[in-house]
Amino acid sequence: MSAENAKEEVISRNFIENEIDKDLKNGRYDHVITRFPPEPNGYLHIGHAKSIVLNTGLAKEYNGNFNLRFDDTNPTKEDVEYVNSILEDVAWIAGDIDRERVFFASDYFDKMYEKAELLIQKGLAYVCDLSAEEIREYRGTLKEPGKNSPYRDRSIEENLDLFRRMKAGEFEDGTHVLRAKIDMSSPNMNMRDPVIYRIAHMTHHNTGDKWCIYPMYDFAHPLEDAFEGVTHSICTLEFEDHRPLYEWVVNNTDFENPPRQIEFAKLYLTNVITGKRYIKKLVEEGIVDGWDDPRLVSIAALRRRGFTPESIRMFMKLSGVAKANASSDYAMLEYCIREDLKLKRTRAMAVLNPLKLVITNYPENEIEYLDVDNNLENEELGKRKVPFGRELYIEKEDFMIEPPKKYKRLYPDNEVRLMNAYFVKCTGYDTDENGEVTTVYCTYDPETKSGSGFTGRKVKGTIHWVAAETAYDAEVRLYENLVDEEKGVYNEDGSINLNPDSLTVLTDCKLEPSLAEALPGDSFQFVRNGYFNVDTKDSTDEKKVFNRIVSLKSSYKPGK
Ligand code: ATP
Ligand code: MG
Repeated sequence: MSAENAKEEVISRNFIENEIDKDLKNGRYDHVITRFPPEPNGYLHIGHAKSIVLNTGLAKEYNGNFNLRFDDTNPTKEDVEYVNSILEDVAWIAGDIDRERVFFASDYFDKMYEKAELLIQKGLAYVCDLSAEEIREYRGTLKEPGKNSPYRDRSIEENLDLFRRMKAGEFEDGTHVLRAKIDMSSPNMNMRDPVIYRIAHMTHHNTGDKWCIYPMYDFAHPLEDAFEGVTHSICTLEFEDHRPLYEWVVNNTDFENPPRQIEFAKLYLTNVITGKRYIKKLVEEGIVDGWDDPRLVSIAALRRRGFTPESIRMFMKLSGVAKANASSDYAMLEYCIREDLKLKRTRAMAVLNPLKLVITNYPENEIEYLDVDNNLENEELGKRKVPFGRELYIEKEDFMIEPPKKYKRLYPDNEVRLMNAYFVKCTGYDTDENGEVTTVYCTYDPETKSGSGFTGRKVKGTIHWVAAETAYDAEVRLYENLVDEEKGVYNEDGSINLNPDSLTVLTDCKLEPSLAEALPGDSFQFVRNGYFNVDTKDSTDEKKVFNRIVSLKSSYKPGK
């Protein structure tokens, strides 16, 4: 199947779109509002990107709205420093977002409190004095029903009074909670009178010391959606068992058109570390260079590595929206970035492991400027001038003294094409005391100039090169998977199987001079070597650092 077909195929509607279509058709909703609700307690990763792409995509598709809501109801865990990085990451992945539709759940504390009082007034919530441990005991097990709390039948007045006093700070942490009055014998444990408010004398980053009671996630989250008029609250599978509670909350708190929850499978990548806990450890132990180390799959790392938002969106489309957990292949993400950059980016010559080549019959001290296409597959990118001279650099691996049978590159007496330039024939070489080749000697044939229409004879190999005199020196970093793929991600003791070769730093690379103008974040194809970008963190005016985004070879075939 061609790449185009593969792309079209997945555009067929996913099960969430089918649900939304039904809701619009039968009049349950006449518009669509989705949301992405991160807790501001860490950096976003590729898994979150799935949710961002899905929710922003649906809002766009249905001409609806998308809300970015910081789920900051828990005063113990949030860390405001993450808010800006999350905003930046979401906007980057989505293209852009409506800044008017960025919300904070903690702004709803007053409204949530009112809804809690409403439940009490309806006889659907009560203040319970059991300790956390007793509540757990009373809850029962999957096999056995729970027992009613002795406080379950308090009067509405008593409940209101106690709840107000909880809010006023009269009680210590852990002495009282507010519970939903549902069903202690429900087969769904989440429905056995779940706690919906707890006392926590803690300062909140947004509301300060205004509150000493805080809503629990399963109560807060559906309300947040409902307050914002969200129609489709799309979450991951682990919340499937919480859906009845979600519905109970929104159906009992007087909303005209409450939201509905739909679950889908999380995105997992084979042999890739996404867990916050593990990444934190790698960062702390200095195994990676921060949360944006290009070997990681945080959004910041993918951006630094040179992935584009388009490539990530394409990956999310190809990986589909499923109801069952499955793992996607990193090679598919690599396929997407290659596809995205193929026609968009200039191709340039860069020698990563340089070996000197001298053309003995080329005039000394002469530099010739060759006309070179920026991208053979996309004429619109124009042409540039590339200097050529008597002394060049070629890749070490493009010369062998004694080549194996199928080797088509340079070796004594063999002739090859220097890409965009001339045919050269190897006439000799120098070695050092270790037998390592230090210089290769060639003669060139001026008749064979690229673009001259020469048809006299053919050569089998083409190699790239960079003129020595005008070469631009740079550092290049090559990446491989952080994890040893043969062994899988984790050892039995929970430690990670690290790949010792995940980073290769090449400090003596020779690039064609046009690359001296490249700015941090710019990306290119280095012919034969892959796609590279200018590192935004470690590049200086004196020396740029290029990251390999992806090599040119692919192990992934679309439609496979
Ligand atoms: P934690 O709850 O451990 O702090 P989290 O990864 O669940 O971490 P959240 O901030 O709660 O972080 O996630 C925000 C949203 O991203 C949620 O709606 C969640 O369902 C979604 N999400 C998280 N991981 C993935 C994933 N691997 N694939 C798809 N969606 C995900
Ligand atoms: Mg979470």
